[in-house]
Amino acid sequence: MKLITRRDALILTATSIVLPLSSVGMRANASAKELVNPESTTAQSLSYIAVSATDNQNCSNCQLYVSQGETAVGDCAIFPNNVVASEAWCSAWIKKAV
Ligand code: SF4
Repeated sequence: MKLITRRDALILTATSIVLPLSSVGMRANASAKELVNPESTTAQSLSYIAVSATDNQNCSNCQLYVSQGETAVGDCAIFPNNVVASEAWCSAWIKKAV
């Protein structure tokens, strides 16, 4: 049976501290994305609007919307470099599967 050396213990301790911190950093980057600019070419081509004018259709009930928890924004595959407002809408809207 191999004993854990002091060096191994230090590496394990450092790893257990660094890995959770890097995870927090990745989440911070994801939420640092800017909101879609309705004037951008992609947004305009899909008639994206910040507040839906279509009854019962908005990003929060779209299949492509991925909530970021309790925030009013989320991710959307159509706009991978941005976040979309939960109340927004675009012509790519697809009813979220129940
Ligand atoms: S596809 Fe359009 S409606 Fe659906 S989440 Fe993305 S921006 Fe919102």
